[in-house]
Amino acid sequence: MGGLILQPNHPTATSGRFYFAGAQRVAIRTSTDLKFLLGDHLGSTSVTALASGAFDTETRYYPWGEVRWASGAAPTDYLFTGQQKITTIGLYFYNSRFYDAALGRFVSPDTIIPNPGDPVSFDRFAYVRNNPLKYIDPSGHETCDSDGYCGDYGNDELMRVSKAYGITFSGEWSIEHKWEVLIAVSIVGTRLGEAANMSGIEAFRAVYDLNDSNTFLFEWDPNCWGCREYPEECDAGTITGDGCISAWGYTNNYDHIEFASMSPISGLRRVNNVIHELGHAFNISLGRVPEEALEVQNDLLKRPYGFYGIAGQFVWVQSSKKTASEIFADQFIGWVYGLWGSDEYGPLRAEFMTSMDGSDGWVDRAVGLP
Ligand SMILES: [Zn+2]
Repeated sequence: MGGLILQPNHPTATSGRFYFAGAQRVAIRTSTDLKFLLGDHLGSTSVTALASGAFDTETRYYPWGEVRWASGAAPTDYLFTGQQKITTIGLYFYNSRFYDAALGRFVSPDTIIPNPGDPVSFDRFAYVRNNPLKYIDPSGHETCDSDGYCGDYGNDELMRVSKAYGITFSGEWSIEHKWEVLIAVSIVGTRLGEAANMSGIEAFRAVYDLNDSNTFLFEWDPNCWGCREYPEECDAGTITGDGCISAWGYTNNYDHIEFASMSPISGLRRVNNVIHELGHAFNISLGRVPEEALEVQNDLLKRPYGFYGIAGQFVWVQSSKKTASEIFADQFIGWVYGLWGSDEYGPLRAEFMTSMDGSDGWVDRAVGLP
């Protein structure tokens, strides 16, 4: 690795501070040590060493990612092919989908068919064309070789997927953040499609009224209008001063979302921020019917109860406000994934969101709007 540049990243609660060389995690600073993460040819964390060079831990994997042999507990949850294992549910998060190493399969179908002419691509749960010794899948959507080459993974593919859903981008978006938007769009589209009994792409376009003359605009603007005019409305960020440099997403309309910045913490947090904003856009597209229904549910206008995940981490709960609009946007995340808190409020929120499904449910009504 010539020209190795160590770039400190933001710390996470459990894992310590990572250092990167390009996209690869190469070291972690824990509360007590600096440790080096040594990968195998697929980028899996297989050996960790202390800064002195002394052996620390070793993890070996079966081809599909189950742990074959381990000596010591690795000081990170970025393990098989460098992806994050969510230990509470035992699955890996591949940036758009959860992967079950025990089954060697994704747990949800791919919403994007990478190569329509290729029969293997039509097994929408398959992992890396069933060839895990050779390939990796950084985005959860596309098989790449171990050098990270993914064919047309990049602008062409990004344009194709954006066009399919009716998305346009303006401003200085990075390729990675554009993909995170499209991943959120495909996750939301899949769930809307289930509810409306149509394809994810059709449902997304119908709900947000997208067609040849109207696209969904994702605007990247560090001084975005919405965040400047309504700083208290910007989600999941800390507002400083007049601008919105440190604020994240703001939904302007049913087909217009602005971002001033995105969380540096994790891809899942960024994807879920986009899903939260799409929840606001859904509420607007339905004339704020969900917000009005929630407004009278005093039990549910509370935080942080009933939401999946840990409050204050801005992963499954993106806003800390107790308004019906913000609560609905966070419940939209829960509805999309079917994930709720284990306390007594989890079932209540899930029950409220059943209004989305069924004939004449909110999704059906949103699909029918002009
Ligand atoms: Zn919000």
